[in-house]
Amino acid sequence: MPPPPVADPHLRLRHPLYPSAVQRRALDHRWTLVHRLWRVLAVHAQLEASGHLRPLREVAHLVAAGQEPTPGNVPRQMPHRSNRDRQQELEAVTQDLGWRSLLGSATLEGLVRSFGRHLQSLGSVARPAAIVLEPPSDFALMLGGLARPVGELHVEIVGIPDLVLAPLYLLPGPAQAAVRVWRAAFDDRLTAARAVLEAALLAGDPAADAGYLAHIARYGALEPHLAAQAGPPQPSLVSLCLAEAARLHRTPAGDYEIDWGFRVLDLLPPRHQALIALDPGERNLWTWATAHQGCGRVHNPLKLRRAWVAPQPAAPVGLIQHPLDHNYARMRRHQLLFHAQVQPVLEQALRHLLLYAGIGIEHTTLERMARRGLDYAPFVAFTGLRVYETFLAELARLDPVRRALIWVPPEGTSADCSACGARRTMRYARREGRRRTCASCGVRLNRDLNAARNIYWRAAADWPDTLPWRPAALPCVQPWTRQ
Ligand SMILES: [Zn+2]
Repeated sequence: MPPPPVADPHLRLRHPLYPSAVQRRALDHRWTLVHRLWRVLAVHAQLEASGHLRPLREVAHLVAAGQEPTPGNVPRQMPHRSNRDRQQELEAVTQDLGWRSLLGSATLEGLVRSFGRHLQSLGSVARPAAIVLEPPSDFALMLGGLARPVGELHVEIVGIPDLVLAPLYLLPGPAQAAVRVWRAAFDDRLTAARAVLEAALLAGDPAADAGYLAHIARYGALEPHLAAQAGPPQPSLVSLCLAEAARLHRTPAGDYEIDWGFRVLDLLPPRHQALIALDPGERNLWTWATAHQGCGRVHNPLKLRRAWVAPQPAAPVGLIQHPLDHNYARMRRHQLLFHAQVQPVLEQALRHLLLYAGIGIEHTTLERMARRGLDYAPFVAFTGLRVYETFLAELARLDPVRRALIWVPPEGTSADCSACGARRTMRYARREGRRRTCASCGVRLNRDLNAARNIYWRAAADWPDTLPWRPAALPCVQPWTRQ
């Protein structure tokens, strides 16, 4: 039987954006406009469901004036309208409101599709009041080709002034290779277009001035960021291509993140029809356990402890003060440490992990760690750990016939005993370092390995039936006594 089609055909990888104050205002503005348009669509659909259909244009004016009618609470037939019709009406309304130049077609299309999914989720009959006036919390604003990764440190978002700082270097190797290929091709296109304009200008073509100036005004500042160091192609188990499918997210704290869509061109089959379980951590980036290939760990390679919270230098004292760009300085330092110390280790781990058809990872709740006073979230952000884990999860999502990845909730993974299964029995003793002893069966195990083994059992118990094999049982406790 062919596998069911995947909802989003793109492999998605996400990282933060660090906009300047001006850029943040522009992003906020765009975000607000899209939310207002959602509201217009929602009120329009509420009216239509209640039997009071009004043109979208009129509804937009009602919403702008704060005169939205109260939606009915009696179940009614939900409106049937194709995304295409809805988008056409919406395009006209945004034109009317003067917002069209701020919102590309990809953004409007994404909005309409997202709204369409919300309506569908309500079923064919529902209360008009159930149509929500705000997009869901995981709503992402489609940027499509309006966002470009122009360098390792910068993103261009059409309509946002200047380039936005962003740690693109955190992308896993195969994604970085795809971005470099895309940049080189884009650079070639711009160079060719400029060469034609230059030739015409130098030949005295009277029309060439305007064309040349327009080209340089639009793309001139990008050029130094585009030259990609090609380097020899790295042998890889997976090859990707960057699609024009970027999306913008806003976190509950109001920070922006961007995700890039990649197409998977090639993905070699896994070597082991087996499960590998990963416990993420700070001392070891991951501690892993398998049934037949043993266990191991990926050491944290950072040579600086708490390297992610470096102090910022004060402004120099003097007659002429140059404003300091701390964000840029922080990013360059992060890039240096990441490339030199973290990335080689993560890439090696990635090659190892991709050999396994099944992966179980503890889904560490960063908010929960923060509540316990642990600064694990900045560590994860600094090491790019979540980006790599997401990469593995996305590959499994897009290749469900051959691969699976299970996120395991973190509750009790360290405290429960992975040998006898007793709950919350692993005890810490003085001079035992990271070893724990089970109060029930007496087994002594490294804390992280115990967690990895628990993650293994839970992922195996949650195993999808889409794969033609099941994870083997873990061997009895291995002699793992040294730190
Ligand atoms: Zn036990």
